[in-house]
Amino acid sequence: MGVTLPRKELFDIPEGMIYLDGNSLGPLPKVVPARVAEVISAEWGQQLIKGWNVSQWMQQPARVGNQVAKLIGAPDDSVVIGDTLSIKVFQALAAALKMRPERKVILSDNGNFPTDLYMAEGLIDTIGKDYELRVVDPESVIDAIDESVAVVMLTQVDYRSGRMHDMQQITQKAHQAGAVMLWDLAHSAGAVPLDLQASNCEFAVGCTYKYLNGGPGAPAFIYVRPDLMADVKPALAGWMGHDSPFAFEQNYRPAASIERMRVGTPPVMQVSALEAALSVWEGVDMQELRAASIALSERFISEVGARCPALTLASPRDPTVRGSQVSFAYEHGYAVMQALIDRQVIGDFRAPNLMRFGFTPLYIDVADVVAAVDVLEEIIEGRLWDDAKYRVAHAVT
Ligand SMILES: *Cc1c(COP(=O)(O)O)cnc(C)c1O
Repeated sequence: MGVTLPRKELFDIPEGMIYLDGNSLGPLPKVVPARVAEVISAEWGQQLIKGWNVSQWMQQPARVGNQVAKLIGAPDDSVVIGDTLSIKVFQALAAALKMRPERKVILSDNGNFPTDLYMAEGLIDTIGKDYELRVVDPESVIDAIDESVAVVMLTQVDYRSGRMHDMQQITQKAHQAGAVMLWDLAHSAGAVPLDLQASNCEFAVGCTYKYLNGGPGAPAFIYVRPDLMADVKPALAGWMGHDSPFAFEQNYRPAASIERMRVGTPPVMQVSALEAALSVWEGVDMQELRAASIALSERFISEVGARCPALTLASPRDPTVRGSQVSFAYEHGYAVMQALIDRQVIGDFRAPNLMRFGFTPLYIDVADVVAAVDVLEEIIEGRLWDDAKYRVAHAVT
């Protein structure tokens, strides 16, 4: 197959901007504004309540779930869209715990994104009964999986360093120990090739506003292994997950399909934005994307290493255990990042000292990487970061 990347022409990125933050919020695909405007005017505006049937808003979360399934190696009808990722983590974790009622331990690692750990804490607080959240170093996870563990809950790619867990190996170990496996793919979906079906994990969840470019607040996705579908107990038993929502039965009866993981009314405009945004993946080969991502990241690491020696690589040097982002530690990282942003090179910052750069081959090429390092070098060499305006702390970093 021919090279199909990058496809910058599909994105609306401001002139002159080098956007290295698609791991945090993907840019706007050009098809989205017209599609969302159409949903607002032609569907909501003209069809009103009829839109649920005429425009099939009701089927949309499962339909878009199938689009996401293709990108993560999941079979049809195993993925559904809805709610925020925090809620999907809670829901999957609660369902996973119910599959091992005799076990009390949730195992995770301290590289996990805080909200995943908070949701686990909150769930334990709610259910009580001697549950324990056991958090170990990422490198120790594999050895910490034993027969006390009910659920292994991990984020595959570390949001700070980009370190990537071996999904196959850890899932296998979890299953050998009789534990249920829950993967958070927030920094994996659209970034690295995934084969969820082959991994055999029971649950996966992920984000659609990062590498999938669904827009700020785009709803999350959840995957349930097809053979478990009929037995999974959705902890958040909302009416949209009912087998027959419009029968308005007094008691909950889950849908037979993945739709049982739905909760309430879907955000139609936001899911429509996501549905349109996912069209940018048509014809993209994930292995080609991965190869391009590694080439970009490797180039960035070697350029920064050669030209900005004061910075320390905070990501794995080996690209096979790194996702699609690279972090560098620097004492004045926050100010440097503000100076970069001021010059239209957009990355982000994670406390205490990490500058984070995402490499998204759909719209970033080698020339962008080199141009970004030109600006970075200029800022470090000339101490251009050493300015009071770059020390102002913003709410979102
Ligand atoms: C981005 C991210 C989240 C965000 O959760 P929301 O509920 O969508 O705000 C959660 N977990 C991980 C691992 C993430 O990377």
